[in-house]
Formats: sequence, C-alpha cells, structure tokens
Amino acid sequence: MTSIPEKNDKKVEESARGFTRVEGFSENKKNIAVIGGGINGVMSAWALIDRGYRVDLYESREPMSQTSSASTKMLHGGLRYLAQGRLNLVKEALQERRWWLSQGTDHAAQMALVVPISNQQWTKALWIGLGVKLYDLLARGSGFPTSRWLNRRTLASTLPGLDTNKFLGGWMYWDASMDDRRLGEWALSRLIDRGLRLKREEVTRVFGNGTVVTNSGEQTYDVIVNTAGPWAQTLLSHSGIPSKYGLNLIKGSHIICDRPWPHGLAIPHKEGRLIFLLPWKSQLLIGTTESHQATTDQIEASKQEVEELLQAANHVLELPLSEKDIVSTFSGLRPVVKTLVTNAKNSSPNGQAMSSASRESTVETFERIVTLWGGKWTTARQQGLAVAQVVTQILTR
Ligand SMILES: Cc1cc2nc3c(=O)[nH]c(=O)nc-3n(C[C@H](O)[C@H](O)[C@H](O)COP(=O)(O)OP(=O)(O)OC[C@H]3O[C@@H](n4cnc5c(N)ncnc54)[C@H](O)[C@@H]3O)c2cc1C
Repeated sequence: MTSIPEKNDKKVEESARGFTRVEGFSENKKNIAVIGGGINGVMSAWALIDRGYRVDLYESREPMSQTSSASTKMLHGGLRYLAQGRLNLVKEALQERRWWLSQGTDHAAQMALVVPISNQQWTKALWIGLGVKLYDLLARGSGFPTSRWLNRRTLASTLPGLDTNKFLGGWMYWDASMDDRRLGEWALSRLIDRGLRLKREEVTRVFGNGTVVTNSGEQTYDVIVNTAGPWAQTLLSHSGIPSKYGLNLIKGSHIICDRPWPHGLAIPHKEGRLIFLLPWKSQLLIGTTESHQATTDQIEASKQEVEELLQAANHVLELPLSEKDIVSTFSGLRPVVKTLVTNAKNSSPNGQAMSSASRESTVETFERIVTLWGGKWTTARQQGLAVAQVVTQILTR
C-alpha cells in the first residue's frame, strides 16, 4: 500500500528541538506519529483520524504481519477471563465483537463453539453452564444466539469426528471468527482513503518532544503513539524513555491440519487454559500453547509445542491426527503488561523489580509519547479510543 500525499503540503516551521518538519505536514491539523502497523496501531490511527488529527503510521515490516495475524482468530469475550472474574473486560469484548461484525466485511462471522463435558462430571457441567449463561448475560443486546446444552447424541451430530463416548454432552455458546490479517488490512485501507500516510520505515528512536528518528532522518510531531506491540518496551528502552510498565512476552503457537471441522471446540487444558479446535478456511486450526520468549528469538512453533497441540486434540478426536496432517504452523507473541516496581536505590528502568501485577491493557504517557501496553485484538477499537483520548489531553493541557 502506498501513502496518499496531501494536496496542500508545505514546509513548516522549525520544531522545538530544532528539527525541520518536512513536506507532508499539515499546518492546520495536529500531526501524530503512530508506530506499529498491527491492529492496535491501526485502530489508534482510526480514532485519531476520527478526531481530526493528521496521522503518519510507521511500520518496519508488512502491516498486520506480526502478532495481529498470528492470533487464534477469534473475536471473543474470553471464557478464560470469565473464569478469572474479569467481568468488565469480558463484557467490553463481547460488545466489541458486534462492532466488527457490523462493518459488513467478509472477514468476520458468528461462530458456535462447544465445551465438551467428560463422563460423570456433572458438577463441572453445572459450573460451565453457569459460566456460559453469564457470558450470554454480559453479551445481551449484541445480537448473538444464546448458549444451550447438547446431550451426547446432539453433540455427535454437531461435531462429527469428536470421540463422543468420552463425553456426557457439552455446552454450545457463541463467539465470532475472523480472518485477522484481512480484517486489519480492511481497516487500514479505510484509513488510507481518509488520508493516513503509511511509512514503511523502522523507528530507531523517539524523543519526549515528539521527534521520531528513522534511518532516513528525523521528523517532529505533536504527539507520538507507541503501538509497537511486543516491541513497545524495546523502542522505549532504546530511546532511554523511562516507564512504569514492561511486557511479559508469551509465545502462542497454532497448527493448521488438513481436516474439515464444522464448529469450534474448546477443550479444557492444563493451568486453566483452553485449547481451541476451530474451522479455518475448510481446515482445522488448533491452538494455542503458552511459553515465555524474547522478541529477539525466532517466533515459530517448536516441535514440543506441535506435539502438545496434537496430543490435546487427539485426546478428543475419533481419528487421531499426526504430523503428516499438518499443513502449516504459526506463532505470535502475546504482549502481557507487567507493572515495574521501582527499586529504591536505583530508579532507572534497568534497576526495577517485577511485581506480579498484570492487566489486559493500559496507556502510559511520557512527555509527548503515548504508549499502549498490551491489548486484545477484539478490543482494539476501545484501545484506540483510549489512546486518542490521552493524545487530546496532551494537546489541550
Ligand atoms: C497466540 C496468540 C493468540 C491470540 N488470540 C487472540 C484472539 O483470538 N482474539 C483476540 O482478541 N486477541 C488474541 N490475541 C491477542 C492479539 O493478537 C494481540 O494482543 C494483538 O494482535 C496485538 O496487536 P499489536 O498491534 O499490539 O501488535 P502487533 O500486531 O505485533 O503489531 C506491532 C507492529 O509494530 C511493528 N513495529 C515494532 N517495532 C517497530 C519500530 N521500531 N518501527 C516501526 N514498526 C515497528 C511490528 O512490525 C508490528 O507490525 C492473541 C495473541 C497471541 C500471541
């Protein structure tokens, strides 16, 4: 995709640090640099353009090519977050599914999922039932069908290929599936039509006064938005910008198998996690694993992860899958926010100890730099709105 030049581009005045603003800047509008062309950068740009700002989006690779196209491809509230009691997050995400579907693209659709319940586990059936009914309640008004119990026979006809002898039945509930890459590219193309300039450059450094440094030069903006996802912390630390937050990077891998699969299946896995078996372009997508990793490591599925996913799926399938059935694998790094507790003797970021506190997303400001930490795909529009609100606060203070 190419940037669309503005008709009345002019050279403008020297910035505070003495860097010259180059052609392409608008004199009347405030100029914002958004760094990172994943879904959080795109939806931040969306909210900023809605507020009348002029936005340059910097992306060092292909837009939507990193975490945002390596998700489990669900627009969802998250049963897992429900189990953790994070009701506000679940409610917001359940309502956001509706917004994505209402955009009328071909890249998202409602999807039924089933949580199967093992034989004799009636108490578990009750608890999961309460969970999915609460999910329905939180999703009220969002236009999705409500959950229902499937007995073993209905389970067998709904999910042929599932080894139903192991289960007394299952709870069917609803979320949405998406083509994450295409949906994000659709949002980006809308923004390019509205004047967003896509700059295919790596930002090597940022300054608190709004200056962005790349290999081709420097440019000063009214505000910089750091939505570099798993790389957000690296960008700040390379720039010497202090922060209260940091990231735990959790790698998640998926496999795609050459087998048709009609609906979603959520299998309870270790540590309270779920492994999903989902229909994906006439094939079967299985994910995800969880392991800590650094951004500098290769982001790809290990042999051990592939085995873990095959084993989890084969535990519930009638006809086992083997490595031969795998068409492709993909992995992403989940940026999980952690709070850094300042060490009394040393207040630099390197001298900080970690607390166990973690949250889904938060927005932090340092001078003219706004950083978005974390954030789900499903709720990216809300994260963008939060970013734009902070940008406006900076510009009006
Ligand atoms: C395995 C897994 C499964 C998931 N499943 C789901 C799901 O089903 N549903 C859901 O809602 N959420 C899901 N998530 C969460 C969601 O995918 C992520 O939170 C979201 O995609 C993060 O988007 P982002 O824009 O912050 O990061 P990214 O998509 O990684 O974008 C950051 C971009 O910044 C660019 N960049 C970095 N540094 C620079 C620089 N210095 N200069 C220029 N560009 C730079 C990168 O190239 C990258 O394109 C999942 C996450 C993982 C890891």
